[in-house]
Amino acid sequence: MNDFQYSRATDTASALELAGRSQAGLFIAGGTNLVDLMREGIVRPGAVVDVTRLPLDGIDEHEGGLRIGAMVRNSHLAANELIRERYPLLSEAILAGASAQLRNMATTGGNLMQRTRCYYFYDGAAHCNKRLPGSGCDALEGFNRIHAILGASEHCIATHPSDMCVALCALDAVVNVEGRNGSRSIPVREFHRLPGDTPDRDTNLESGELITSVDLPGRTSGMRSKYRKVRDRASYAFALVSVAAALKVENGKFTEVRIALGGVAHKPWRAETAERILTGSTASDELFEHAAAAELAAAVPRRDNAFKIELAKRTIADVLSELTGETAGAR
Ligand code: SF4
Repeated sequence: MNDFQYSRATDTASALELAGRSQAGLFIAGGTNLVDLMREGIVRPGAVVDVTRLPLDGIDEHEGGLRIGAMVRNSHLAANELIRERYPLLSEAILAGASAQLRNMATTGGNLMQRTRCYYFYDGAAHCNKRLPGSGCDALEGFNRIHAILGASEHCIATHPSDMCVALCALDAVVNVEGRNGSRSIPVREFHRLPGDTPDRDTNLESGELITSVDLPGRTSGMRSKYRKVRDRASYAFALVSVAAALKVENGKFTEVRIALGGVAHKPWRAETAERILTGSTASDELFEHAAAAELAAAVPRRDNAFKIELAKRTIADVLSELTGETAGAR
């Protein structure tokens, strides 16, 4: 049993102040991950500040794009007419995640903060540098089928579990946060971290900072897009590999390409190498395969997850084929 203080904030200023009263204060919204972590004793906050009543539940026009309040529930976000019309990639990704009941509870801000589903992280008897820095990583020599193939370190090979964040990464979304020292904006692709030698830090949020909204830029509105999630069963499973792609093709050539991968790294993985190869080139199956292979060239397989490399290559190429109308061949 871990004692903690619960309070409910009514505005952002009081939320920051209440969380700041404890050294280990955390914000809670839908609680779909944090409550599990607290039950298992993985996370032991001194104070929990409920932010579900903050007036941050709008989806509004903003500088040619949309601003999504941090308290917008995943189900509302996926169903929102403006999102479905201008950013269908985001709607598809959210609907590919969790279950309807969880999406009804989970919020935009909470989804950004969810933690890895590495089995060893949730097992208090296992060695885990993310849970207890310096204790080791049982996944390195353990069962690591779901673990990372890109950007991992010898300290942690966990993957980021979110579908929504993969789409936000491809859409160049920006996370707005407020802290005791003021507000700032962080591009989603810089919001989550690779593990390096500090795998206990999932994001670049500073202590006490609160996510207030997420901006979707106007320039990614209306791009042709697709979210493809490959998983062990048809629903309620995390991605083995996922691909979020948004692109523009003019006269048969890619003029803009944005690709992000899920299930392969400690953060949504922006496929910059593939994007560089594709941009300005003429769409063809050969090009897609070349770009996908180049992106995965740096992949490092573990004992049980080498299949993800080929799976990621094929999924990238198939999504590009589908989006451009090129034939997919026999992948
Ligand atoms: Fe912990 Fe990361 Fe190793 Fe999993 S992969 S046991 S989360 S350090």
